[in-house]
Amino acid sequence: MRSKPDLKSTDAGEIRDFRSLPSVSRLLEAVEANGAPHDVVVRAAREVLDDARREIASGGYIAEHELRARLRANIKIAVSSWPTKVINATGVVLHTNLGRAVLSADAVRAMTEAAAYSDLEMDLGSGQRGHRDAHVANLLHEITGAEAATVVNNNAGALVFCLSALARGREVVVSRGEAVEIGGRFRIPDVLHQSGAILREVGTTNRTYGYDYENACNELTAVLLKVHRSNFYLGGFTSQVELSELVGIAQQTPTIVLNDLGSGCLVDTAALGLKHEPTVQESIRAGTDLTVFSGDKLLGGPQAGIVIGRADLVDRLRKHPLARALRCDKVTLAALHATLLHYLRGEEWEKIPTLRMLALKPEELKAVAMRWQSELNLTGVDVIASRSRVGGGSLPQVELQGYSLVVCPEAFGVSSQDLVHRLRTLPVPVVARVEDDKVWLDPRTVQPDESSDLVRAIQQVLA
Ligand SMILES: *Cc1c(COP(=O)(O)O)cnc(C)c1O
Repeated sequence: MRSKPDLKSTDAGEIRDFRSLPSVSRLLEAVEANGAPHDVVVRAAREVLDDARREIASGGYIAEHELRARLRANIKIAVSSWPTKVINATGVVLHTNLGRAVLSADAVRAMTEAAAYSDLEMDLGSGQRGHRDAHVANLLHEITGAEAATVVNNNAGALVFCLSALARGREVVVSRGEAVEIGGRFRIPDVLHQSGAILREVGTTNRTYGYDYENACNELTAVLLKVHRSNFYLGGFTSQVELSELVGIAQQTPTIVLNDLGSGCLVDTAALGLKHEPTVQESIRAGTDLTVFSGDKLLGGPQAGIVIGRADLVDRLRKHPLARALRCDKVTLAALHATLLHYLRGEEWEKIPTLRMLALKPEELKAVAMRWQSELNLTGVDVIASRSRVGGGSLPQVELQGYSLVVCPEAFGVSSQDLVHRLRTLPVPVVARVEDDKVWLDPRTVQPDESSDLVRAIQQVLA
């Protein structure tokens, strides 16, 4: 290895003015490129120097060794593979920042299969061309009873798709209590506007009745839209119109009932002692014309927007130009197919990680946390009753009872923020939760094969 010129002269010194900053080439001489292409390294060095100039301009200073450390870190990021697998110890099952649903082993296998050439759009028997979502649509038909189905990138896309294709230039009736923001600036009124539909708000925030919808209907009405208030809870003096009533109102008119169900729950969450989350099957049974939902919320699959319902409407959607613009990728379709197969086979509670995690009982979680505690065998580490959340804008007011391993940072002479930062920056990062100035590690979202890594991680950061 070529030895690098030393920068001893200014090593200890703090740089407080632009002129004392090293040039790009001098900075580069002091740092290994680690296999990164030259222009990537140069760009990284420029960025480091630009940041330093900004810091100096606002009255700060920087040491030369810090510049080198930043450059090394930036080069490393530029040539590292991404994403990095993390251990989710937050207890939030559908953690959007950590990628929402964990896919089943079968779904992962299917994605690998689909990565190569596959019979994505070919019927191998006849050699004829087929629909890429035909196999998934068959499963959705079997599981939900819907006549037909198609799949796009995500549920936000599915909603824009349906409204653009079926309600452009016409009116869409929505209850004021359901004209909500789903998150990330995805607001129902804006989505309608984007789709070229005219929003016709009815009722009030807390109460909407059947006659509100009836009175709003006219020859311009295309859709009665029902939106599941996934991410917030409306309680108290409230009244809303049941899906079956909406279907009754739309009957004998060309008006379509479109149900944005959000989470795409296919199981009865009440069986877990949780609040009942409206299911896809219920939406179909109520006679809804079209139902849309996410693939990566309670369904437990990949990111996708699923549209199910009347065959004639799905056919219209398939022929719309947006179908091509929003169509789902082959790897996603493969994962979705594998996930839906679990439902068809009746093995969803064992095989789909999201459902398995939701079903974990407090005693089971306590046993895991206590095992971690005894393996660690440290004072300042306790097992305490805790609550976890479903996340992903699903079942917002539901708290899942459980137990967590709780590290008291004072016992180790560090701050809780320091401790979670150390955990997050390990080679196998661990994401934990801070509450009451303690660090909480919830076994619910730690996968069974990650337990020993987790214990080692805690030992490492507390050592
Ligand atoms: C989450 C959600 C969406 C958006 O779904 P994505 O798959 O995240 O695009 C739309 N509508 C409702 C009711 C939701 O809960």
